[in-house]
Amino acid sequence: MYKSAASIVEAIKNKETTAEQVTAYYLQKIEENKDLGSFLTVNEKALEEARELDARLLQGEPCGALCGVPVAVKDNVLTEGLRTTCASNALKDFIPPYDATLITRIKEAGGIILGKTNMDEFAMGSSSETSAFQITKNPLDPNLVPGGSSSGSASAVASGEAVVAIGTDTGGSIRQPASYCSLYGYYPSYGTVSRSGVISMANTLDQAGVLANCVADLRRMVNVIGGCDEKDPTSMREASPGLEENPSYSLQGKRIGYPANLDAFPLETEVKESFDKGIRLLEELGAEVVPVEFPTLAYALSVYNIIVATEVSSNMSRFDGIVYGPRVDEYQSNDELYKKTRSAVFGEEVQRRIAMGTLYLGSDDEQRLYKKAMKVRRKLADEYRAFFADYDFVLTPTTNDMPFPIGARKDDPMVMYDSELFTVSVNLCGLCAVSIPMQKGLGGSLQLIAERFNDNELLQAAEQIERSLA
Ligand code: GLN
Repeated sequence: MYKSAASIVEAIKNKETTAEQVTAYYLQKIEENKDLGSFLTVNEKALEEARELDARLLQGEPCGALCGVPVAVKDNVLTEGLRTTCASNALKDFIPPYDATLITRIKEAGGIILGKTNMDEFAMGSSSETSAFQITKNPLDPNLVPGGSSSGSASAVASGEAVVAIGTDTGGSIRQPASYCSLYGYYPSYGTVSRSGVISMANTLDQAGVLANCVADLRRMVNVIGGCDEKDPTSMREASPGLEENPSYSLQGKRIGYPANLDAFPLETEVKESFDKGIRLLEELGAEVVPVEFPTLAYALSVYNIIVATEVSSNMSRFDGIVYGPRVDEYQSNDELYKKTRSAVFGEEVQRRIAMGTLYLGSDDEQRLYKKAMKVRRKLADEYRAFFADYDFVLTPTTNDMPFPIGARKDDPMVMYDSELFTVSVNLCGLCAVSIPMQKGLGGSLQLIAERFNDNELLQAAEQIERSLA
């Protein structure tokens, strides 16, 4: 059992173990935990790739930042030659011809791709229950959902099937499952990680990030996968995110605000308790923690639901039965081919969002709701901007609730959307955030939010909290 990516790299560097042994260990764990349903595809070449790495190390190749670290990857990230499905029948047998930039970088740093993890279909959902193929269970209690949409990435790390995992987050899909599975989950500032080869859900909100057991691994991973990429014009200019460890960082004197109207949101008792405990801890560390008015926050989820659906409806139009995936056999016209194929290959949640997005973008009422949502999005961003002129961080619970039983919310999409109440505004406003578990095992988490590209300080602060919790 390895505690962290760093401990694996060290052990390989010191010749205490080999990449092959480490990979074999995790493949064994995946086999033992099959019932959890974390993985959709295991990389059959993982052992061979680890052996090749060992051979290169023997010949004197230096150890990279992820030397021999096995990484689980959400199934919406392209992996050359390794099936990538987005947990959808629309891509059920799709073998990508190239790697996403972030995968290329993991490989260059010596990481080994263990396999592809289950998720909600095309990342739309919060529990893995919209996956076309399987439901993932929460390793802390298999009757509960692990959260989503990066469901398998969370359960893989929480069960010890992987030491770190790549997830993607459009409205909370890294932070919410991290919270449900008691892990650290990091949504980097928009632009930090190239989106090239990450299958789009909603372009203006999507970022890949990391789920791990400690802040140091979040940093290590994003230093590898992040930085400028000429294939993604929205990626940052700097070659590297430059995240640095700072053991002497102190929250002493830092100003932290939390939403004053928190009671207006439906918070479950355990979540509230963890949050209050978090406030006390930050105060003990010398921070000034004060309630702040965020009047627009109450509208964030509605704005998110409109914007996400519009971007989804346009992104999903490429899955038309012509270029990718299966196609129905009987049709009289192109229109019928599209309609029949798309009705057959997409699940209910994906179809619902395409329908809603098409409605919002329709010209019938001059895109009234979409335009309004864009205005409120701006207002929310302005509110945050004004806030960050005086404060260092925002603090919220990561989710308003605890992981729920599998099946409990299946028929009520509106309740399903609620758990991302506090995460969506971060994506809407291009900020960065990390989810910090307040205890080992089931319980609430803190979400610490910082201004765009203040990721370095965000992780340093999160690490100080982690140290105090240990
Ligand atoms: N659960 C949210 C949704 O369904 C967030 C999804 C995500 O971040 N990919 O939209």
